[in-house]
Amino acid sequence: MNFTSWGAAEQVTGSMHLIELQDGYRVLIDCGLDYEKDRSSVENEIFPFEPSSIDLVILTHAHIDHSGNLPTLVKNGYNGQILCTSATADLCQILLTDSVNVFLAKNKDNKKNRRGKNEFKHAPLYLHKHVMDTMDRFFCVPFHKKFEARANLSITLIPAGHLLGAAAILLEIQEEDNLKRVVFSGDIGRYNYPILADPETIPDVDYMICESTYGGRLHSKDKTVEEVLIENIKHSCIDTPGRLIIPAFSIGRTQALVYSINKIFAAKKLPPIKVFVDSPLGMAGTDIYRKHHHLLNDSAQAFYQSNGDQFTFDSLDYIETLNESKQISDYFEPCIIISSAGMLEGGRIQDHLYFNLQNYYCTILFIGYCAKGTLGRKLLDGIPMVKIYGRELYVFASIKQTDLFSAHADQNGLLNFIMATPPSKLKKVFLVHGEKSSMQQLAAILNEKEYQVCIPQKGKQFIL
Ligand SMILES: [Zn+2]
Repeated sequence: MNFTSWGAAEQVTGSMHLIELQDGYRVLIDCGLDYEKDRSSVENEIFPFEPSSIDLVILTHAHIDHSGNLPTLVKNGYNGQILCTSATADLCQILLTDSVNVFLAKNKDNKKNRRGKNEFKHAPLYLHKHVMDTMDRFFCVPFHKKFEARANLSITLIPAGHLLGAAAILLEIQEEDNLKRVVFSGDIGRYNYPILADPETIPDVDYMICESTYGGRLHSKDKTVEEVLIENIKHSCIDTPGRLIIPAFSIGRTQALVYSINKIFAAKKLPPIKVFVDSPLGMAGTDIYRKHHHLLNDSAQAFYQSNGDQFTFDSLDYIETLNESKQISDYFEPCIIISSAGMLEGGRIQDHLYFNLQNYYCTILFIGYCAKGTLGRKLLDGIPMVKIYGRELYVFASIKQTDLFSAHADQNGLLNFIMATPPSKLKKVFLVHGEKSSMQQLAAILNEKEYQVCIPQKGKQFIL
C-alpha cells in the first residue's frame, strides 16, 4: 500500500493523509483546514487529488484543523461515507456550522456592487448547505468495535483523550499473506485531563503516523489544575473584589474548566463565586458532553453520582443573548467570566476585555496557546496598551497563563503512545502535526531508542 501526507506535513494544521491499498481503494484520514493558508481562500479549495476518487474518509476528531475542509471535499465531488465516533459527528455539526458563520462574519462589511449585489471580499469556502450535505455522509462507529470496511480492510477507533469522541485509528490491511497494522494517532490527549478518559495505547503496530505538537516539550508538573484555579480565584475574587476572565475555546476547554470549578465549589474549597459562561457555542458543546456522558472519565462519572450534572451549579449562569452578555459589565460583585475566542480574536470576549483591561482588580488567565499576531499573544508578551473597538486602552489587568488545560500529550505522553510497540516490530514512525523543531526533537529521542523515524514532506509517497 501507499501512504501520502497531504496536510499537517512539517506543520501543525490542515491534517489530511491518504492511504491507497494495492487494489486502488483510497482512504483519506482527516480533512482539516490549513490555518497557514487564508482559511476562506481558494487555497483550501484545491485538493491534490480528485475528491470523487476517494472511497472512504475516516475522521479522528472534530477540531477544525482535522474536520474543517470536509464540506469542501463534499462540495467538490466526494460522495462516500465519513466514518467517526458519534460524539465526533455531533461536535462536527456545531463546529462546521460555526466555521460557516466565521466565513460569513468576515464578509459583513462587504460593499454592494453597482448592480446592488454583494461583492465578497473573502468568498466563503463553503456554506450551511454544504455542511448539511456533509453531515448526511457521517457514519458512526463506537470505540473498539472492529468495522469491516471490505474484505482486506478493517477499521477500529481507539480512545485518544484530547476531545470528546477523539480517536486514534487502527487500520488492519490484508495484503496477500500479510496482515499490516497501521495507526494514525490523530491528536493524543494528556493523562489525568479533567473530564476526559486517558488516551489508550495500541500494541503490535507495523507503521504509525503520529502527531508531534509537543514533541519537544514537557508539561509543567509543579501544580494541579485545581491548585492553579484556586490560586487565581482567591487572588482575583476573594482577596480583592475583582474579576477573573478566562478566555477559552468553546468546545473542550470550557467544559473542562466548568467541571473543575464545580468540583472546587462542591468540595467547599472556596466560597461560591458567580461564574458566567458567555459563549453560545460553549453551551451547545456542553449539551453534547452531557449527551455522551458515558465517555467521560471515572472521576467525572463518580462526581455525577454524588453531585449531579458536572456542568451545572448554583452560582453558574450560561449567557445566551448578546443583551445578557452586555449586562455582565454592570455586574459589580466579584465574578469569573469564561468566554471565547481563546486567542481573543473576535467573539464576546472582546467586550469583556474592553471593559476590564484597565481594571487593576482584574486578572486575565490564559489557558491555551495564543498564535503570533493575535491579541492574546500581544498581552502575554506584555504590551502596555492595546486598541479595541478603535479605543486605546492601558493594560492594567494582571495577565497570567497556565499550560495545565492543554489537551495535547507532551513528549513523554507521545513516547508512551509510540513505544507501546517495540522498535523490533514497528517498521517506521512518521511524525506529522508539529512544528519542525518539535518533530526533530522527538525524532532524535526515538532514534536513540532505535526506532526508524521519518518526517514526511507534503505530497511525498511512501510504500508501507
Ligand atoms: Zn485536536
